[in-house]
Amino acid sequence: MGHGGVTITVELEREGRALYELGPSEGGNPSQLADRFAKLGQRCSKASKPRQTDCSPFAGSLQAASNRIGEKACQHPEAKEARALFCRYPPRFYGHKGICNQYSQFCPFEGLLTETNPLFIDTAVVNIDADMFYSMEECGVFQKELWIFKVFVHWCPHCQQLMPRLYQLALTLRQRGVNTLRFGAVNCATEHELCAKQNWPGHPLLVARYLGSDRAVHDAIEHWVDVVKDAQLRQMLPRYALPGEFPVLKILLEQLPKSMLSKASWSPLFEADAEQSKAANCANLTALHPEFPEAVDEQVGNGWHDVERNFTVKRRWMDAMLMLRHIFQEWIAPVGDDGNVDAFAHSQLLVIEPWVELLARNLPTTFGLAEVLQELHRSLVQRVRASQTSEGSSLCADEWKALTTPLLDRIAEVGQRDFAVASACASDTCRMWSLLHMLASEGLRREQLPRKNLTTPAPSAPDVMMQTVHGFLEQFFKCHYCRRHFLKNYEAGSFGRDVALGSREQVVLYLWRFHNAVSVRVTAWHGCNTTDRRWPPSALCPRCWKPTADEWPVLSEAKDVVQGGAARALDLAASPDEEEVLKFLQSAFTVSDQEM
Ligand SMILES: Cc1cc2nc3c(=O)[nH]c(=O)nc-3n(C[C@H](O)[C@H](O)[C@H](O)COP(=O)(O)OP(=O)(O)OC[C@H]3O[C@@H](n4cnc5c(N)ncnc54)[C@H](O)[C@@H]3O)c2cc1C
Repeated sequence: MGHGGVTITVELEREGRALYELGPSEGGNPSQLADRFAKLGQRCSKASKPRQTDCSPFAGSLQAASNRIGEKACQHPEAKEARALFCRYPPRFYGHKGICNQYSQFCPFEGLLTETNPLFIDTAVVNIDADMFYSMEECGVFQKELWIFKVFVHWCPHCQQLMPRLYQLALTLRQRGVNTLRFGAVNCATEHELCAKQNWPGHPLLVARYLGSDRAVHDAIEHWVDVVKDAQLRQMLPRYALPGEFPVLKILLEQLPKSMLSKASWSPLFEADAEQSKAANCANLTALHPEFPEAVDEQVGNGWHDVERNFTVKRRWMDAMLMLRHIFQEWIAPVGDDGNVDAFAHSQLLVIEPWVELLARNLPTTFGLAEVLQELHRSLVQRVRASQTSEGSSLCADEWKALTTPLLDRIAEVGQRDFAVASACASDTCRMWSLLHMLASEGLRREQLPRKNLTTPAPSAPDVMMQTVHGFLEQFFKCHYCRRHFLKNYEAGSFGRDVALGSREQVVLYLWRFHNAVSVRVTAWHGCNTTDRRWPPSALCPRCWKPTADEWPVLSEAKDVVQGGAARALDLAASPDEEEVLKFLQSAFTVSDQEM
């Protein structure tokens, strides 16, 4: 160094673990820090924009308003490809041959085909935006009618599953003259602020609103809430928000007064659904294997499409990249402890900071995001430190936007330039898996490189990665079912959690086991007995599986679901060779430095 200066190198981290601690705090205990953070966050609150209350649609038809709001939702940038079929009501998938061919629940049903009144078709489920929602409150709509809102986004697989069922129920009730029970749909992709202000934390949700004088309707809603919500759900959701599962609606309808609707108007639909939903939710195996029909009889994994064979690392990375954009644009949204939607809660900051660090450390260098992520991480660390001083700190939504703009710009630039390949996923949960598998695999790949070749920071230590992923999914995972299931299993220590805390190799395998457990359990739950969603299919990795008489403990939840019934993944037992699986996963989610 010139001018006789001295360079001091401070070692801040070793082997993916910070050597400094963010603390101890001089600013008080955790709850005092959180309170002060929320209080200081009040400076972030913006005056809400004046609202135009318009009661005229409620006097006539809601058709024009609903169509306009639906079109607005479908202009959302993520409403593309298959997702465009799910962005508004009436659903756009009716008449789309491809999807109907693969899953029969998306085919038009009899009552729709014979309906000639466009008003019924367009307003069986009404698209609702913030102005409409608040106008409904102010115009006294909930005094006269019970409304059930479906809170959703168009890329969420469970919201997509609920869509045809809810629509058929709503249209049938309209056709049978039911007018005081109505259905609305709020697409949180475009109605961010409304969803945050109402504290609807995930999707799909079913939300009841009724302010009328009929005691029996109030009793029915209270009964519904009490029966459906266990202690955990009570903690996670506001009182009148319930998980968006179709059978849950039956519990409400059963209790509603006969004067509102007769049992005959809805009960055949639930009976038929219980019968048909199994078949309707099961993939058509022939349609999954247009190129390799023999794969229908594959020992392992006949439930994965032939196109799996064409998925390159680049395509999986493309999904991880899309997920990153989605996380920073859609998932990480502020909700202060006091309900302030213009400022983050302290607990949110404490989750975002390590998450950004994990990304900075474990993303492949080809993503070109390390520098902007490190910069963002530094700013977050400063906020955390400041929050622990006696002055305290806060994080406004606008500040977060400014801090993440360079990252989002960079994602757009790199995405267009280096990732112009077709996505391999149709849903954000699939993309989330791609991101998680890739982060774990890349961490392991870099661990195995000679240290001297490393120009990038060490990948996160395995326990840090596990805890960071847990914290992030707990706080920000929008898929309500997935989050609940993930937390339950993580907390129970399933799938080898504890060994994963001590080994990067095991983190890769942990996520792979977890993913298999989910895929097979969901298939079993839908009663798709002939479909096997263990992955990788034996056609893709013949060495990964060996036929065996032993049960694979990872599938124990699926076993509980079928309760002695049939399920191909359980009947054709196979035990994985985890060494081979690990090699396969590394080749599916990473590339060597030479190939980059
Ligand atoms: C943490 C988490 C928990 C979830 N919990 C639930 C739940 O409780 N209930 C529910 O219904 N849905 C849950 N999901 C969603 C579910 O796993 C699927 O993402 C969703 O059903 C969409 O499925 P898909 O057909 O697009 O394929 P996905 O299962 O999303 O798979 C995407 C791609 O990943 C690859 N892949 C498949 N299996 C593996 C594996 N084992 N290891 C590595 N790569 C693999 C394949 O190439 C596949 O095409 C969860 C998702 C996540 C991220």
